[in-house]
Amino acid sequence: MDRWGKALAPLVVIVALLGGVVAPNVALAAEEFVLTFPHSDPDTKFLSEYGVSKPDGRIHRGVDLFAKRGSEVVAGADGFVQKVQRGSRAGLYVVLTHTDGYETWYLHLGSFAEGIEVGDPVAAGDVIGYVGSTGNAAGTSPHTHFEIHDNGRPIDPYPFLRASFERWVLSQQIEAGETPFR
Ligand SMILES: [Zn+2]
Repeated sequence: MDRWGKALAPLVVIVALLGGVVAPNVALAAEEFVLTFPHSDPDTKFLSEYGVSKPDGRIHRGVDLFAKRGSEVVAGADGFVQKVQRGSRAGLYVVLTHTDGYETWYLHLGSFAEGIEVGDPVAAGDVIGYVGSTGNAAGTSPHTHFEIHDNGRPIDPYPFLRASFERWVLSQQIEAGETPFR
């Protein structure tokens, strides 16, 4: 009994650790926000630049999606329109709310989708506006400043953008029959 007890003790600790570490990750994965790439321009360029300091000392809380002026900005997930506004820095911008406390923000739009109103339901991929350079983006290359907020706090959107862009490219390749599977 003693010998079994000694042999099993480390195993019990490992199982306890795995239980503590693995279980929350599984829960997290189930709730993970799945993004639809928020632009329709396949030549959209973006970098991992969340959290970098800007010349005026403020922190960049999003990722800039550079694309053709006037190309479509689309809803990153199913949800509702929370804001359709104009700000001095943000320019024309839209905020969408989604399940599990997520929000997506789209700033510097050139124009809004026709008829878009606060409270409207949106489906992932619905057009909400068009790429521009309004607000403090005036004079820069057209881009959408894109943010994801998780329960009121901005989080790094880059991994979500990257994953959604890769899913989009892959789905186009599958449709075109360019993959070994269909
Ligand atoms: Zn930006």
